Amino acid sequence: MIDAIVPAFLPAGTRTPCHDRGELFIHPIRSAPTKADTAEAKALCAQCPIKAACADHAIQRGERDGIWGGLTPAERRARRRPDCGTESGWRSHVQRDESCLTCREAHDDRLREQRLKRLTREHATHGGSLAGYRLELLLGLPTCVRCRAVRHEYYANQPHPGKWYRRSSAAA
Ligand code: SF4
Ligand SMILES: [Zn+2]
Ligand SMILES: [Zn+2]
Repeated sequence: MIDAIVPAFLPAGTRTPCHDRGELFIHPIRSAPTKADTAEAKALCAQCPIKAACADHAIQRGERDGIWGGLTPAERRARRRPDCGTESGWRSHVQRDESCLTCREAHDDRLREQRLKRLTREHATHGGSLAGYRLELLLGLPTCVRCRAVRHEYYANQPHPGKWYRRSSAAA
């Protein structure tokens, strides 16, 4: 049991504070450790000379279970560097309120690609549409004659925006 949780970068037979308390770190039966086990495991890690290296090792390897370097799985996930350039990396930055140019550019590229695909679908399905018109504006493209015609017709059939206001103020 203990061999499985002592970091692999340590020489065989190394004794760390956890070496005979494996059950506190990854319990053989329970799927989630108790609060008391977690607190005790963290207290042992606090005395360990390789605490920082142990935590780094587990974070890099993406260890999912147990306490490593005094950190729970959730604490390790929070410290893990986002996978920059991917959508999950972008979401991690947003959650942490961080800015990352690589992730933002990659996210914008994906968004643009999705919008272009939607615009192609709008044109193929409807010829022109309001949604197509909005997509053309969002993409910074010149609006096409078919989408403009649909928009023109839509707004021509809407009540005049100032009508309500004029009517209510006239009644008052
Ligand atoms: S930091 Fe904790 S889990 Fe890592 S080797 Fe030390 S006592 Fe064991
Ligand atoms: Zn990033
Ligand atoms: Zn169009």
